[in-house]
Amino acid sequence: MSTQASSPTILVVEDESSIASFVSLYLKNAGYTVRTASTGSAGLAEVAASNPALIVLDLMLPDIDGIEVCKRIRQTSDVPILMLTARDEDVDKIIGLEVGADDYLTKPFNPRELVARIKSILRRAAPSRRDLDTEVLEHGDLRIDAGRREVKVGDEEIQLAPKEFDLLWELLDHRGLVLTRDQLLERVWGYTFAGDTRTVDVHVRQLRRKLGDASPIVTVWGVGYKVSPAKEASRDHAPA
Ligand code: CA
Repeated sequence: MSTQASSPTILVVEDESSIASFVSLYLKNAGYTVRTASTGSAGLAEVAASNPALIVLDLMLPDIDGIEVCKRIRQTSDVPILMLTARDEDVDKIIGLEVGADDYLTKPFNPRELVARIKSILRRAAPSRRDLDTEVLEHGDLRIDAGRREVKVGDEEIQLAPKEFDLLWELLDHRGLVLTRDQLLERVWGYTFAGDTRTVDVHVRQLRRKLGDASPIVTVWGVGYKVSPAKEASRDHAPA
């Protein structure tokens, strides 16, 4: 990769101008280039125009809400998205609706924590995906291609949100081990914070729903999650 003279661009989609400006200030001080948009449609236009490295996306926007904006971005892009929510109860909505946000913060939040999360997301997002370029993991009927970010059950491709993919990879990459929720948070999301392991549980739930019988994820009560031993593949893999 060539070195880039310009700093990563963060797009802030937020209609409350006081929040948008203090977030922008903190991000600029942290060395990022900042673009802002005050509506969902302006945000979508800005994603296409400025190709940001990360998006801070408010849930409540005047035109298209943050969930819909997130879904539309995910149709074309894997760009990390950190959602801002007004209430704790919105969190299930965000991570439960398969919109594919990478992380969230509940208002009011500490801007330093926002900057720390963003740094962590950007640090984890780029290199780990590069490292995994050509790796493929197989487990029973399940086949995961990290380079293509593709998951198949037999011949059927399963659409996973980015963090669902990373979580499944992390579990399969540690077959035979039990990973605690805190370990998974740290490895997949890049941080730990007390009591917020619900993110992991919600993503596991989504993976089980999407993978159905092919889901290898086993709950280890009181500890975390592990992968069950592979069943015999029910069909032979087609030659490549
Ligand atoms: Ca708002």
